[in-house]
Amino acid sequence: MPFLKSVLKQYDLVVDKLELPDGVRERLRHPKRSLIVSIPIEMDNGMINVYKGYRVQHDITLGPSKGGIRYHPNVNLEEVTALAMLMSWKCALMKLPYGGAKGGVCCTPAAMSLKEKERLTRRFTSEIIWAIGPEEDIPAPDMNTNMQTMAWMMDTYSMLKGHTTLGVVTGKPLVLGGSLGREEGTGRGVYYMVEESAKIMGKELKGLRVAIQGFGNVGSTAARLLFEQGSKVIAVSDSNGGIYNRNGIDIENLIQHVNENKAISHYPDVEIITNQDLLTIDCDALIPASVEGQITRYNAGNVKAGVIVEGANGPTTPEADMILSERNVRVIPDILANAGGVVISYFEWVQDLQFYFWKENEIQHRLKEIMAEIFNTVLSMSQKRKIDMRMAAWTLGINRIAEAQKIRGLYP
Ligand code: NAD
Repeated sequence: MPFLKSVLKQYDLVVDKLELPDGVRERLRHPKRSLIVSIPIEMDNGMINVYKGYRVQHDITLGPSKGGIRYHPNVNLEEVTALAMLMSWKCALMKLPYGGAKGGVCCTPAAMSLKEKERLTRRFTSEIIWAIGPEEDIPAPDMNTNMQTMAWMMDTYSMLKGHTTLGVVTGKPLVLGGSLGREEGTGRGVYYMVEESAKIMGKELKGLRVAIQGFGNVGSTAARLLFEQGSKVIAVSDSNGGIYNRNGIDIENLIQHVNENKAISHYPDVEIITNQDLLTIDCDALIPASVEGQITRYNAGNVKAGVIVEGANGPTTPEADMILSERNVRVIPDILANAGGVVISYFEWVQDLQFYFWKENEIQHRLKEIMAEIFNTVLSMSQKRKIDMRMAAWTLGINRIAEAQKIRGLYP
């Protein structure tokens, strides 16, 4: 099922059970603004290529919109719209003063030079400049974009405005108003969610058997933090496939191997597995941290993990959710599990607006406190109403926006 269709299906499932004020259901079904731009850039060989870029602002009831920018060959308007909607629920669930947005450019970053990526980023920023800003819409990194991409975006915005504007994007390098802890924020949040899940399963982090799909920013950070606590990361994968060792993989060595080889393949003393094998491996916690639509009705029946902590956005389809729920496999939904990144982005934005920067232990402490508090709010709603944690998280997020829309009223 296409991603947007699956997100809207989930939305209908949730709002069918809510008593939303008149019109709110329909308003929240549609993005507030969708921008499609053409990005012509000169390639290193002198040819001109034209890329398609998107920025979708789904909702801005609670504050400026917030969401990442993704560079990937599969980026399209529907995907970006679905991800923007998820950002609205995520920010509302985490009680941040933000609406939801997402952006992306359809391109193959692996085939582009650094200079080509810089030209792409700068031209894209200038094409969407009227839609972004520290009080309007604040982009951040996502798949295949990073601190450098955000530095180029911030610089382009600042050059065009004539003054340096730190708060226009988050996920920036420290020297440009970035926050300590931002780069590992999402993975650290995922790690806290595994920790909270282990508590309710009556298990310790030490010895917990974990499988992780995707070994990028999110997957590798969660893997490292779990490994440091003595968890056994028994399987990991990237887009080329996976590796397995029932005794656990040394994650520090693996990170070094990936830094040197740009892939996990050829890592010694492991069995080679496919991405599909990884999802159904016998483990305590499964962390999908790659792309959407990985756990489907075809493999959900074979998942052996006790808990799935969704590092990626939308890795589980609604059909798979139903199967997992019947089988009592707990799913910590993406809008909660991977919210660490947007929470630290919020900290970064607050620090940029105040021109005052916090210490790393303060940031980690605040992140842990927020993640654990919302985890327990979602858990207790799911237990009270006998619904799964995704339904509970979406209900809390949607209800918060609905309440704000009701009080604000409908303009004009
Ligand atoms: P990344 O680009 O750093 O890493 C992605 C990883 O997934 C890589 O190891 C890649 O090889 C692998 N991968 C790609 N396609 C795959 C496939 N079809 N099967 C298996 N593996 C595949 O990206 P990231 O920043 O770690 O983001 C991962 C996921 O987490 C995405 O869904 C993203 O939207 C979500 N997310 C990221 C952040 C963040 O702060 N980076 C925040 C919230 C959510």
